[in-house]
Amino acid sequence: MFSGISASHGIGIGSICVIEEHDLHYDTAKIEDVAAEKKRFEDAVEQFKKETAEMAEDIRKRIGPKEAEILESHLLMIDDPTMSGEMQKLIEAGQCSESAVEAVCDMFIGMFSQMEDEFMQQRAADIKDIKVSLLKILLAVEDVDISKVPPGTILVAKDLTPSMTSQIRKENVAGIITEVGGKTSHSAILARALEIPAVLSVPKITEVVKNKDTAIVDGTEGIVYIKPEGDILSQYIIKREDFIKKQAELKDFFGKETTTADGIKPELFCNIGTPKDARKVIECDGEGVGLFRSEFLFMDNAVMPTEEEQFNAYKEAAEIMGKKALIIRTLDIGGDKDIPYLHMKKEENPFLGYRAVRYCLGNQEVFRTQLCAILRASAFGKVKIMLPLVSCVEELRAAKELISEIKVDLEQNGMSYDRNIEVGCMIETPSASLIADILAKESDFFSIGTNDLTQYTMTVDRGNADVSYLYSTFHPSVLRSVKHIIDSGKAAGIPVGMCGEAASDPLFIPLLLSFGLNEFSVNPALVLATRCVISKWTKTEADALSEKVMSLSTEAEIVAVLKEAVKE
Ligand code: PEP
Ligand code: MG
Repeated sequence: MFSGISASHGIGIGSICVIEEHDLHYDTAKIEDVAAEKKRFEDAVEQFKKETAEMAEDIRKRIGPKEAEILESHLLMIDDPTMSGEMQKLIEAGQCSESAVEAVCDMFIGMFSQMEDEFMQQRAADIKDIKVSLLKILLAVEDVDISKVPPGTILVAKDLTPSMTSQIRKENVAGIITEVGGKTSHSAILARALEIPAVLSVPKITEVVKNKDTAIVDGTEGIVYIKPEGDILSQYIIKREDFIKKQAELKDFFGKETTTADGIKPELFCNIGTPKDARKVIECDGEGVGLFRSEFLFMDNAVMPTEEEQFNAYKEAAEIMGKKALIIRTLDIGGDKDIPYLHMKKEENPFLGYRAVRYCLGNQEVFRTQLCAILRASAFGKVKIMLPLVSCVEELRAAKELISEIKVDLEQNGMSYDRNIEVGCMIETPSASLIADILAKESDFFSIGTNDLTQYTMTVDRGNADVSYLYSTFHPSVLRSVKHIIDSGKAAGIPVGMCGEAASDPLFIPLLLSFGLNEFSVNPALVLATRCVISKWTKTEADALSEKVMSLSTEAEIVAVLKEAVKE
């Protein structure tokens, strides 16, 4: 068994076809006839543009406009004077076309790959793709025609470039395995759009497989089996059938209302990290954003984002969401999330230290700038403010006081904002849970952060594998805490959501329905699955199950009962 990154869900079983990397060596001797060499280069660029435009058009028709943009961007890049212009200059200076292409592309690849930003790193992969395509044209190298591989093929390659991926026919390719690439690489995006299971970043896989070997690609778990044993193969054949059936069932939930079998209608929101993710929420049929982790905006920058930059980001997300809610969580920094330019002190116990709302209240300039940007963006949508890691009511009061002061400033400067903007608390510390009734009197809403609530309730570092056996949302203490928070919200008449991972757990969902959770906030990719699970339960059934579960003493007993009751 080999492990890699789960890049596109599903299970593929088939026969391997290895895409070999070509030898792209060339003669570097200085050229004599510059005019002829320039013509050779221009012809190659023309051929590249023609082939790329055809592939982009084909993708646009078969997959969609968004996916076609990846290859269209290659056309823009090659036409950029800093690309083809610089290559021409090198040829005029006597270099052959191959060496000019390689030198200019390598310069850009080096520049982009040094940048931290994943988007910029992807630019480096794009330019590598352009370089290899141009060199293949110049050296007249023939590629395996991926569009002609037989049905049931598992493609294995060091890297699958967008131009290679674009030739894939969904009906023939059962799975993809590569040695490089992450969840957000273009090959991952295309594999997901084509719904082909893919596992990327499997070290040295091209060295251990042969053409025609049988393989299993488990894109959901990120694992690969080469020449699997008979019993593994038969288990996976069943798993694959179940997955296909489930996917077809989930598609029926697109555009449907979120409702239990007996008509209780909780909201089904999503968790996002960037304004662009708001588009995913719409594409995945999410009903709002229950958690915008604003710290990514700060972590992706080398310097503190200005008020204007933040305003533009929040406004972009608010406009994409339109009338749907956008709950922006204020900077949740510290713990395991460091931002170098904030020069935060090293702490003995960072998870128990100066983080999240504690840091923001102690660094009012940072907090004020962010709150001001959020308030200004509230004029463009249904924005709400959420405070992370609240542990006492004084923190909520201090933040609300600051928000009131900023509102006065905005008013005086004639700037628009939502005067009735809601301010809520994340409930993710045991202290906040225990005083949920007090906090509820002064909060507009709650959202339960089970990721942290579990870690603090169980006193278990959520990233420490040695104690992970204790990290469970199903521990009776965590369940009691969650129930108490929802009861407190209900008693005060405020809505309670959940944005921790537990909100999409099929075992946890019936308990949340029984407790009366108002809003589930999940990863956009899990909207339909969550809606499907919710649809299978009635309140009466969920109540009977939760009554039984809440009477049990151990996590193991609880999980066993829930597994028995789960509705697939
Ligand atoms: C949580 O703690 O449950 C949560 C949603 O926040 P984060 O995972 O960002 O800490
Ligand atoms: Mg948290």
